[in-house]
Amino acid sequence: PLLFAVVANLFWVRGRELGARRRLALARQRLRGGALRAAAVALTLIVGLGGFVLYNTRVLNAYQTPDEIARGKAEYERKYKRFEGAPSPDVYAARTRVELYPAAGAAEVEGTFRLVNREDRAIDSLHVLPSALVDTRDVRFDRGARLVVDDSALRYRIYALERPLAPGDSIAMSFRLVHRPRGFRNAGAPTDVTANGTYIYGSWMPALSYSPGRELLDEQTRRELGLPPRTVAPGAGDVETRAETRPVQLAESETIIGTDPRHTAVAPGRLVREWTDPSAGAGGRRYFHYRADRPTRYGVAVLSAEYAVRRDTARGVALAVYHHPAHDVNVDRMIRSMRASLAYYGEHFGPYQFDELRVVEFPLYAAGARAHPHTIAFSEGSAFLTRADSGAVDRTFFVVAHETAHQWWGGQVIPAAAPGAAFVSETLAQYSSMMVLETFYGEAMARDFYDFNMKTYLANRGVYTNREVPLLDVVNHAYLHYYKGAVAMYTLRERLGAAAVNGALRRFRDRHTGPDAPPATSRALYDELRAVAPDTVKPLLSDLFEHITLWDVRSDSAKAEPAGGGAYRVTLFVDASKARADSVGNQTPVAMDDLVEIGVYAGSALGASPGEPLYLKQHRLRAGKQTIVITVPRRPARAGIDPRRTL
Ligand SMILES: [Zn+2]
Repeated sequence: PLLFAVVANLFWVRGRELGARRRLALARQRLRGGALRAAAVALTLIVGLGGFVLYNTRVLNAYQTPDEIARGKAEYERKYKRFEGAPSPDVYAARTRVELYPAAGAAEVEGTFRLVNREDRAIDSLHVLPSALVDTRDVRFDRGARLVVDDSALRYRIYALERPLAPGDSIAMSFRLVHRPRGFRNAGAPTDVTANGTYIYGSWMPALSYSPGRELLDEQTRRELGLPPRTVAPGAGDVETRAETRPVQLAESETIIGTDPRHTAVAPGRLVREWTDPSAGAGGRRYFHYRADRPTRYGVAVLSAEYAVRRDTARGVALAVYHHPAHDVNVDRMIRSMRASLAYYGEHFGPYQFDELRVVEFPLYAAGARAHPHTIAFSEGSAFLTRADSGAVDRTFFVVAHETAHQWWGGQVIPAAAPGAAFVSETLAQYSSMMVLETFYGEAMARDFYDFNMKTYLANRGVYTNREVPLLDVVNHAYLHYYKGAVAMYTLRERLGAAAVNGALRRFRDRHTGPDAPPATSRALYDELRAVAPDTVKPLLSDLFEHITLWDVRSDSAKAEPAGGGAYRVTLFVDASKARADSVGNQTPVAMDDLVEIGVYAGSALGASPGEPLYLKQHRLRAGKQTIVITVPRRPARAGIDPRRTL
């Protein structure tokens, strides 16, 4: 330990931070004599680099092992969960000024939140939970407040108000966020702000109440750390009937972004002003001022890079794709998808609420896509550089349609904070984009999309460690709300027809849009779907949405014999079973009495296309082996069960 201390001291940064090579040279100068020099070389390799790494990962950047992180989360829950129901104010206006320094990977944000107490009781203290991604400084209020809890390790602060905030009363909170990478980390350099692109979203902002999202989610780790199973949030039914359920809050927002002079910065809202400040040295700084014309669901999104911009218009909506100048291969495809999506959703679900729609690229450091008001952020890998092979599902087209659908499902209809929220936003985005895909490319691609979703759902069922739940109760189940959701909605569409399903969605949207609308829960959506289903189909809806139901229907063999006059008698030997799964995966066989489609086709037995259907009809199947006999007018080539994926 002593040797380590001496050597570490030699390598310690004195004054300004220097490069490793220069620091090694300094260390050598500090040592005298050949033996010492030799020792220094050896020690450099053994300990010196270790010290340098430690200095960067432990001193400059707080490093936590996965264990430490888990224990911190457990501690957070033990100490602060009691504040989960504490009254808290809502943001009704947010103003942010963001200064980006892309070359240095740094940023500073000055923010002001206007908060209002919409509870029916006074608020005597404000909880402020700083983000792990930035230093949150200079939190101030426009009335007396005393910092009474300042837990920097668990990032929890409580300010006691000198005068409580009465219902309806408002207060302003200002703060500064500083993001300045220093040295290097143990893993993953911070990449929110980089020379080739910036994408900052809400997670930099302080939260204003206990966040269940910071709890340990994995059930097994929870058990190991002595935490009870995660309390299931109140059910959708509770949310609808609870008297104190607050309507969804919308906020006005205004953002000013300063950035590199070669960059274009984008944030939700209309660009009201753009200017250059030449006094800011080295080419000056470029500024963009965005203001939302109407209150939207509160959130922050700031993007900045050297963009090329493709513009177009569709149905009076200005379209724009902001992309890396070299990443233009899929831009036309994106514009086509934006057009087709706006047309389909506008016709079937209700008018689009903005007059702009943008797709904005961010670098591959982060994956995926996120829909902000009329602004969709896409990782370069998620749509811009996706290969489009002929015949396969057009992924770029699909994901743009999916994110555009969130302007309705998530934007217009804001799901209630209850289990099933992702069924409302994600499953409906999957369904909507599947319909656009089918309208634009035809049924075959939609069926490929169905098959992909079914395969992914079944593959994930096997590896997922948390409980599986019915679709109406999804909480943190991506494989359910995306993949199983898409499968169930496709099946429903096949059974009820697109007009009936879209009509139900339109009514759901009409009833649950706006600040005074009743909570948009999965149950409310389910009620609309049930309302358009005939009684014969209602049991299927229950199987798909209220339960975890697995069908296995297969045909072991089939034969065709001439039946005179050119007709053929086709016999199918079918084996069917149906099971319900519980939350831990136990499957129980249940009685089956379901309509399953049987198809007989004239096409070739080997070709990709089954050809013209000679017969396509629903049969009522029970569990077990059974024989189905059908007569068709011509010689058949193929017979199949559920060829159109309606179960
Ligand atoms: Zn989505």
